Amino acid sequence: MGRFRAYYDDGIVVEYENSRFVIDPLKKPVTPFNAVLITHGHRDHVNPRVLYNVSPLIMSDETAKIIRARDGDYLRHITVGPGSRLVIDNVLVESFNAGHVVGSLSYVLDFGDLRVGITGDFNVEPSILLSGAKGLDVDVLIMEATYGDPDYVFPSRREVYEELRAIVDDGTRDGVTVLMGQPLGRGQELTALLKDYRLYVEPSIKVINNVLGLRYGSVASGLPPPGSVIIMGIPRDTTRLIRTLRSKYGSARVVALSGMYAKRSRASHLGKLGIDAIPLSSHSDFPGLVDFVLSSGARFVYTVYGNAAKFAKYLRSELGIMARPLPGHGQLTMDYFL
Ligand SMILES: [Zn+2]
Repeated sequence: MGRFRAYYDDGIVVEYENSRFVIDPLKKPVTPFNAVLITHGHRDHVNPRVLYNVSPLIMSDETAKIIRARDGDYLRHITVGPGSRLVIDNVLVESFNAGHVVGSLSYVLDFGDLRVGITGDFNVEPSILLSGAKGLDVDVLIMEATYGDPDYVFPSRREVYEELRAIVDDGTRDGVTVLMGQPLGRGQELTALLKDYRLYVEPSIKVINNVLGLRYGSVASGLPPPGSVIIMGIPRDTTRLIRTLRSKYGSARVVALSGMYAKRSRASHLGKLGIDAIPLSSHSDFPGLVDFVLSSGARFVYTVYGNAAKFAKYLRSELGIMARPLPGHGQLTMDYFL
């Protein structure tokens, strides 16, 4: 078995023998590398400005379209999708659906005697638009742990969808319903879910929806008529937004959507402002993360993002799985697990 190491250096770096792969770099990747892989279009995973002339650059068609529409950057790349198998310098690069946002992928690097999985952000639960991510058959798993804290248990999507529809029906009876969430992710999911309502979509969401073929909803010029549903990002001043809506329409329901609202303290803070906080997330919740690890069969797990340290500790102490947070470049030690 050869020399393996993985670390975070403004992007995930995987090295095995003489190969180096860089995943989701936010700064210009240090050469030499065999390939740079992009998992999805969120800005904390892709920075188009550092990817010009980077080759080979690998991503899904949808991610490239999102970057082009949102940021105006066309990046020369090799297109992959769920089920793709690509050989780069004798390393097999496999792509899998990550279930996180449209176009999101997880990757497996198969070095012949070692398989390494990199999840990117992922969700095991299917949504109205995406199927759920399946565990990766790997020796080493590098996985996100955004909600890697036992407090984060989400209701099922069916329950969340039902609750949302009830709020939308109530809000649109006399006034409007405003739904706030990440433009990439919640933007598409809510558009698909509520396409049969009188729907208005913020321009930053509409631009992404259009290139993904989700042609529902209009962009409002001024305030939409009563009876409308408005999908938007999170505004800087929600209190002001609510004041404006209530003075215009008399009544309005305002909903913020994020997995973080599974924590009661966060939801009740918004409740005091008159905002419904609903835990609709593009990520797996804590049980989903655990399930993913167990179905991957990995012998070693690196955790990254969010609750990485807490989740690695849980895997070690409760499940006896060798796990640690992905080290930074400066904290590198050899991992003698292989
Ligand atoms: Zn993401």
